[in-house]
Amino acid sequence: MVTDLASALGAATACSRPVSDVNWRPHHEHVGQTGLAIAPNLYIAIGISGAIQHLAGVNRSKVIVVINKDPEAPFFKAADYGIVGDAFEVVPKITEAVKKLKGIS
Ligand SMILES: Cc1cc2nc3c(=O)[nH]c(=O)nc-3n(C[C@H](O)[C@H](O)[C@H](O)COP(=O)(O)OP(=O)(O)OC[C@H]3O[C@@H](n4cnc5c(N)ncnc54)[C@H](O)[C@@H]3O)c2cc1C
Repeated sequence: MVTDLASALGAATACSRPVSDVNWRPHHEHVGQTGLAIAPNLYIAIGISGAIQHLAGVNRSKVIVVINKDPEAPFFKAADYGIVGDAFEVVPKITEAVKKLKGIS
């Protein structure tokens, strides 16, 4: 789901440390205090709580969009835009909208 959105946007993927710790995504994608520091034009945090150690790696992003089903997730405080909702419902809709906008089938 995340790679589909990244591919539609022409974006790279990243992850939080727990995700790379369980080898769900490769270690080189882990951002934060103990991982990479990134500074993209747009960072979309999908199902990331916003722990201080994660924010340390992404707080130089120009625009931060947070998608989280918990309205109290700390990441919303650091977000330029926030969507409260289930990522499994929200993300495919964004991907479809991006594809439509770009004329990708
Ligand atoms: C010394 C030290 C260094 C660390 N360094 C790093 C680091 O470099 N990088 C890093 O990332 N972490 C680091 N951590 C870990 C950090 O403290 C957090 O534990 C970690 O960032 C949490 O990762 P997470 O947001 O993926 O998971 P969680 O905190 O478990 O958050 C998951 C989030 O997903 C949301 N969610 C779940 N299901 C859905 C759904 N279906 N739709 C929408 N939202 C959903 C939940 O509401 C929750 O907010 C470090 C910790 C320590 C102690």
